[in-house]
Amino acid sequence: MSHSAPDGLSAFIAGLPKAELHVHHVGSASPRIVAELAARHPSTSVPADEEALAEFFTFRDFAHFVEVYLSVVDLVRDAEDVRLLTYEVARDMARQNIRYAELTVTPYSSTRRGIPGPAFMEAIEDARRAAERELGVTLRWCFDIPGEAGLEAAEETARLACELRPEGLVSFGLGGPEVGVPRPQFKPYFDRAIAEGLHSVPHAGETTGPETIRDALDALRAERIGHGTSAPRDPRLLEHLAEHRIPLEVCPTSNLATRAVAALEEHPVREMAEAGVLVTINSDDPPMFGTDLCTEYGIAARLLGLDAAGVAELARNAVRVSFAPDDVKKSLLGEIDAHLASWPA
Ligand SMILES: [Zn+2]
Repeated sequence: MSHSAPDGLSAFIAGLPKAELHVHHVGSASPRIVAELAARHPSTSVPADEEALAEFFTFRDFAHFVEVYLSVVDLVRDAEDVRLLTYEVARDMARQNIRYAELTVTPYSSTRRGIPGPAFMEAIEDARRAAERELGVTLRWCFDIPGEAGLEAAEETARLACELRPEGLVSFGLGGPEVGVPRPQFKPYFDRAIAEGLHSVPHAGETTGPETIRDALDALRAERIGHGTSAPRDPRLLEHLAEHRIPLEVCPTSNLATRAVAALEEHPVREMAEAGVLVTINSDDPPMFGTDLCTEYGIAARLLGLDAAGVAELARNAVRVSFAPDDVKKSLLGEIDAHLASWPA
């Protein structure tokens, strides 16, 4: 299946004001950003040349993705790297007309590498304020537990979220592998974050079955589900998600890259939408999967058979179920309506 948008929709999607709800901080580092980070740390093995980096970034398989991801993690060594990465990610978002994003940040990767928690918070907050002022991009944070790092990481992430809570923090998440990492063990940390007023948005059902999504709902009190790809295998679960208006953060190209789906045309997004589940479209780790949010909207438009009005409704979904302040939601919804109204039928 083609990755391009249906005829004539590419320009509509490019100009459409968008919100993104499932996109990772380090996973958003484009070759341009990595080149800047590598230049700050000349001793690294990562090339500082953008062209060589584009080659390095070309997605080969999941193992290669992990290699690229970890090499970028290794380049984020001090608070200035964190600030630069965050601001530059917002610049890449602005170019796609992404106006609001909940960026999934894994503070544990930085604090365990020696960046003090308060310096980390200051760096992301400084970048957030600058991005809003200079780029017109409103950022909010989801702090996620890297599941593979276990309960120690969970404890540290909850501590950072609750004790050093930065102004932009809105939610608490759980990422990393699902196989061998049962969701319920993280319940105490989610309970703590929820008690602090944070929203629960764990990844679930990306590489495992619908029972993981049920665990995320029951034990972690998930308000939105990261991926939820396997949900359609359980019609009663789909019904539950639709009835309780629990949205899924769908990332088509990511699901293909990780082989959660065998082919794009087999992606279950249509079954989700037809069951009345609120679907949002996201890019996950865009440069590392060779995609961006505009491309994902194009793919969704093909899979769901949408015209411009349908694509605008997808964009509205993301705004409505976001944790953005009401005034941001209101103005973004107005801009989406205006963009659609200005579009030639
Ligand atoms: Zn993710």
